[in-house]
Amino acid sequence: MPVARILFPMPLPEPFDYLIPEGMDVEPGSYVRAPLGKYERTGVVWAVKQAVPDRELKTIEHHFDVPPMTSSMRRFVEFCARYNVAGPGQVLAMALRARGGLSPSPTQTIYEVTGHRTNRMTPAREKVLTAATELGPNSAAELARAAGVSSSVVKGLVEAGSLAADNRATDLPYPAPDPSRSGHALTTEQGAAAETLRAAMKKGGYAPFLLDGITGSGKTEVYFEAIAEILANDPTAQVLVLLPEIALTQAVFERFEERFGAGPAPWHSSLSDQQRRRTWREVANGRARIVTGARSALFLPFANLKLIIVDEEHDSSFKQEDGVRYHARDMSVMRAKLEEAAVILASATPALETVVNAESGRYQRLKLSARPGAARLPDMHLVDLRSNTPEQGNWLSPILSKGLVATHAAGEQSLLFLNRRGYAPLVICKACGERLKSPGTESWLTEHRYSNRLVCHLTGWSMPKPDKCPLCGAKDSLMGVGPGVERVAEEVRVLLPDATVEIFSSDTAMGGEATRGIVERMAGGEIDVLVGTQIVAKGHNFPNLTLVGVVDADSGLQGGDLRAGERTYQLLSQVAGRAGRAERPGRALIQTYQPDNPAMQALAAGDRDGFLKIERDVREELTLPPFGRMAALVMSAPDAGMAKDIGLLAGKAAPHGEGVTVYGPAPAPISILRGRHRLRFLVTAPRDVDLSAYMAAWVGSLKLPSAARAAVDIDPYSFL
Ligand code: ADP
Repeated sequence: MPVARILFPMPLPEPFDYLIPEGMDVEPGSYVRAPLGKYERTGVVWAVKQAVPDRELKTIEHHFDVPPMTSSMRRFVEFCARYNVAGPGQVLAMALRARGGLSPSPTQTIYEVTGHRTNRMTPAREKVLTAATELGPNSAAELARAAGVSSSVVKGLVEAGSLAADNRATDLPYPAPDPSRSGHALTTEQGAAAETLRAAMKKGGYAPFLLDGITGSGKTEVYFEAIAEILANDPTAQVLVLLPEIALTQAVFERFEERFGAGPAPWHSSLSDQQRRRTWREVANGRARIVTGARSALFLPFANLKLIIVDEEHDSSFKQEDGVRYHARDMSVMRAKLEEAAVILASATPALETVVNAESGRYQRLKLSARPGAARLPDMHLVDLRSNTPEQGNWLSPILSKGLVATHAAGEQSLLFLNRRGYAPLVICKACGERLKSPGTESWLTEHRYSNRLVCHLTGWSMPKPDKCPLCGAKDSLMGVGPGVERVAEEVRVLLPDATVEIFSSDTAMGGEATRGIVERMAGGEIDVLVGTQIVAKGHNFPNLTLVGVVDADSGLQGGDLRAGERTYQLLSQVAGRAGRAERPGRALIQTYQPDNPAMQALAAGDRDGFLKIERDVREELTLPPFGRMAALVMSAPDAGMAKDIGLLAGKAAPHGEGVTVYGPAPAPISILRGRHRLRFLVTAPRDVDLSAYMAAWVGSLKLPSAARAAVDIDPYSFL
């Protein structure tokens, strides 16, 4: 009897057996619906076998008419689960994020001009016919909206024979990209990199690359050549371009459109359900040829994935910090291996992990060392805040203030970078000294003047700013301490009263529309000084921007995590790289109290490789990643007593492993989050130890109270 093993997208230990009804043509990878407990659930057939069941099996109810999940994708799901110490069903859930995509597109009635003109025309009818001619076939609601009339006018025109109704899918296929269109004429250096990539695309098979080029050197132009080659070579090949979520702007979309004559299929967290199911369906059936997406796009079930590009590969947003904790860059390389595809990791400041892989020959490195044409990297200057101290209550040093005035006088633009949203990162009571905290969370509240609220940036909790201290009741005693972007903008407005100053942060740019607005105003020269958080660091091109000021270069160095220096270097050089993109030279003024810190010295000298070498030597000496392995176990409980107990229990249960060191339990730096008490273990091991297996065995052996939680984080990036 044929029996199917079905994996469901939920945290179950393994696939379950089901009978295949006669005439149902399922195979490994088929998407099906089958009864599970009280409900019917969608799952994927993991294997089909001939068996005589030793118990009564339930029967598959429905087989979706979608191409089966490829075996390479199924292997990838298994690999991801094992490596990241998660259940395969939890990983499968990430691949099934748009169930609507399993069914054919819903349809809608559309109306099209027939060419027949009724002699009973009215001005309203005239408007609808004009709209239908201009917009092409469309729904009654859309035509009526465009014509500014009621939809009964559309119906009237159908009866009169001037419009014909037809049924059409609501989720249309994406227009096909045209790989034969040509891009910019490449520089010699770009041409050489593109040629190497084209040769690899022609050859096919697994091929990992590091595309290492300074900001604005044309990395995008070069990987466009690889995309064009693979699309032209293989008429079914698909390409995935992963970008940090906040870089997925309209501007990126338009660049693809310009190069390939059609925009890519998008995948990110703010898609509507309809867009999501449309992309999922088109990816699964192989028609979507280029997908641009955030990290979760890596789990889309491509039919024939031939090239993955991870742009800004060093970006920490590729690491998922909840649910299944994975690093999309590392998983991309694995997926490429399983798909026998090429993978290009692109960055101006590649992660040390990636650089070490390139040095050891595991990845082929392609270098772009210059900007095309007249554009060049900005001059970098450190501003030592110890001798160049801002005036009391201010945050801009005299040098930076002068720079802003001069830049504005020259009719050029400035960008001030401070990675702190809001007005002030801390609110204290002048009367009793209380620092206002988020309820149930060990985190300070940030003052936001824009919305007049106090906000917890960790949990999103907020309240209107009270007029008296919640603790001592003193009136008007609450005071914001330290700078946020709103406060810096306030200072600039005093300095340059006739300048247009805008703030660019996730508070002022909620959603694509607002972001686009700010970027367009800045690119069009309407803004004189833009004050932004890390949202400004990514990919924007502002031709008239000549001064970048970093308000507090040291903020990322605190906290002592493994990659603090590396991340600071990456972020600051990326921000500085916004200046001097076009014909005008730019400069960056970096305010710091630690000018001797290696990250600051390297920034000033433009010596990225020297900096990486120091980082590398330190990590090698201490066998930290990528020279050793690291994992974390984060545990939490609803009260301090239980947290202590489970910490002791887990500490005792840690298995012995050759070369494995377990540190902890220690209270997590955020020791209480949303009412849960948190503690952490950190585990290190030599490279040849299978730390995933070790962690799985450890966590698997724990018998925890049901209110307790334990989460494994392989290769942790966050130490909070
Ligand atoms: P990166 O991805 O390395 O930051 P981009 O590919 O975005 O660089 O290129 C930066 C800018 O330079 C873009 O506006 C791009 O169109 C332009 N550019 C890159 N290469 C060329 C070239 N060979 N000729 C003309 N313009 C180019």
